[in-house]
Amino acid sequence: MFRKILIANRGEIACRVIATCRRMGISTVAVFSEADRAARHVALADQAVPVGGPAPADSYLRGDRLIEAALATGAGAIHPGYGFLSENPDFVEAVTAAGLVFIGPSAAAIRAMGLKDAAKALMAEAGVPVVPGYHGDNQDAEHLAGAAEAVGYPVLIKAVAGGGGKGMRRVEAARDFPEALASARREAEGAFGNPAVLIEKYIDTPRHIEVQVFGDGQRAVHLFERDCSLQRRHQKVIEEAPAPGMTGEMRAAMGQAAVRAAEAIGYAGAGTVEFIVDGSDGLRPDRFWFMEMNTRLQVEHPVTEAITGVDLVEWQLRVAAGEPLPARQQDLAIRGHAFEARLYAEDVPAGFLPATGRLDRLAFPDGARIDTGVRPGDAISPWYDPMIAKIITHGPTRAAALSQLAAALDRTEVTGSTTNLAFLAALARHPGFAAGQVDTGLIARDLPALVAEPACPPQALALAAIAAAGLDGPPAPQRGFTLWAPLRRTVVLARDGAALPVTLACEGPDRVVADLPEGGAVAAERVDGGWRLDGRRPDLTAHVDVGRVTVFGGGAGTWRFDLPDPLDRAAAAGRGADVVLSPMPGLLKAVFVTAGQAVAQGDRLAILEAMKMEHTLTAGRDGEVAEILAAAGDQVEAGAALVRLAPEVSP
Ligand code: ADP
Ligand code: ADP
Ligand code: MG
Repeated sequence: MFRKILIANRGEIACRVIATCRRMGISTVAVFSEADRAARHVALADQAVPVGGPAPADSYLRGDRLIEAALATGAGAIHPGYGFLSENPDFVEAVTAAGLVFIGPSAAAIRAMGLKDAAKALMAEAGVPVVPGYHGDNQDAEHLAGAAEAVGYPVLIKAVAGGGGKGMRRVEAARDFPEALASARREAEGAFGNPAVLIEKYIDTPRHIEVQVFGDGQRAVHLFERDCSLQRRHQKVIEEAPAPGMTGEMRAAMGQAAVRAAEAIGYAGAGTVEFIVDGSDGLRPDRFWFMEMNTRLQVEHPVTEAITGVDLVEWQLRVAAGEPLPARQQDLAIRGHAFEARLYAEDVPAGFLPATGRLDRLAFPDGARIDTGVRPGDAISPWYDPMIAKIITHGPTRAAALSQLAAALDRTEVTGSTTNLAFLAALARHPGFAAGQVDTGLIARDLPALVAEPACPPQALALAAIAAAGLDGPPAPQRGFTLWAPLRRTVVLARDGAALPVTLACEGPDRVVADLPEGGAVAAERVDGGWRLDGRRPDLTAHVDVGRVTVFGGGAGTWRFDLPDPLDRAAAAGRGADVVLSPMPGLLKAVFVTAGQAVAQGDRLAILEAMKMEHTLTAGRDGEVAEILAAAGDQVEAGAALVRLAPEVSP
């Protein structure tokens, strides 16, 4: 067994690998970018090596530096985690050439599965059912449109080099095909440097069911299935194992197909064979098709660990060190049911925009496995995936594990960034999900109910006004309190377009009474730098940004208020319409207009890519473009001015 390994990754997966190494007595070397100097994975590892700047291309993707760090610290092997270089065959070859062990499959196996078109061809040959469609070399737009016609709408356009839901477009009808193709190609070119696509039949009532496989280079076993059908825009939100409604016959058929796939490429290590399943008529053994194989440890591997009792990272280490497969197929069995929910820093009501922030408060309940890469006080930076934690529960039955998940989400506390916590909690209580009626369209169908913001408690409104008045934060008596009279001031907040005037009476440096617009008052008292509201200490914190206040209430909800400046409102409205701002930090992918060009309200101006998605920025009104303030390829901050329209001429 290895004495010491280097983990070429960050965040929760680096921490996850360290945990198993620690248990097995293997020393660990972490690597970190400048943005991660104080990160949890660095603190947990026995040693840590800086590898470059915050951008992944300058650090976590610098294979040369990672290998150098392994050699310099005397590590015998490299664990790649997921993402970054985990599925990069050139990296695997470089690691091996340096005399180190890559903890994962061979470069050849990764190459065989690297492109979805070649992988599908290979799988069809090995007798694994593949999704009907076109996965040939002819990338001519007319030809692809013809292939879509032949397959029959709706179809899915997929980047052959795709991953993480990128470069994928569902097309309903022939007239939408050309634009969808262009946009899929653009996203694929940007993300993977490869614009090639394939066409697939869009499967009806789709369910995503994947099989965990494990190989030793010759033989493979499977560790049953995970159902990852709860998705938003092709990205997994909650995963579970086993799949609801699975039959013995279907499980055997899928497991055998997955093992066949792994053995066909001499697979070594942990891998996942993803299938799309037609769930319109229950689960039937002739209605699943191969989509792709992920040649790495998967984000959602903990649900498999929960139901099988296997530590998949331990198996990875053992097989990479040359030991035989730790179990035979007949030794493996399913015990109970498990769920995983992905907690992200993202603004759900604003359309799931990735968010950033310092996690002032972060607390998880007992009774759930928590895989996380952050601690209270750590920041979610714009550089990496905004995942905060994975919350995993395991119970004797599906119902038990799901109610544990709901309870764990309710008792998770996170402030300092807006998160999808309330959305996850709503999903965990969704009656259709509870009944096991899962398909990849569930979230989109019920989105309004799932993202509905909970009613705003009076304490949240009072705290928002206190924060907006500058009274949050360290006591500064001169700001709100004068010796000769209690100071009264009215703060106007706005929510859903309605003005909410809150009158604050400062009765001392640490006492404020907030009179609310609908009657009633909240008495606030400052204790230990925080505000006690109506004599209780609710778990509320407020954050003031330019033009808005956000109150975080952990699992209870997040409430946003606009801060209209009464004097400047008219001017602000004009400015807002004149200048198109970046709604979040991201990469400006394309700018479609030039100075002097006339635009109509709703016209596409630019495309911003943030984290894993493209966002189209449109003109808020008719007008003429006065100035382009950023260029395609620029990394832009939230609030950065991108395009300015010429001022409207009053009639
Ligand atoms: P999985 O299929 O393992 O559940 P996802 O589908 O969420 O994972 O993501 C697919 C891959 O993309 C994973 O390897 C993940 O690490 C990687 N990934 C996710 N987010 C990002 C990101 N912001 N930047 C780079 N890679 C990412
Ligand atoms: P990625 O590499 O981005 O993970 P996949 O091929 O695994 O791409 O597909 C991602 C998701 O898109 C799937 O989990 C599923 O929800 C949906 N999907 C993929 N192919 C199909 C299909 N043929 N019909 C319906 N949905 C599909
Ligand atoms: Mg996939």
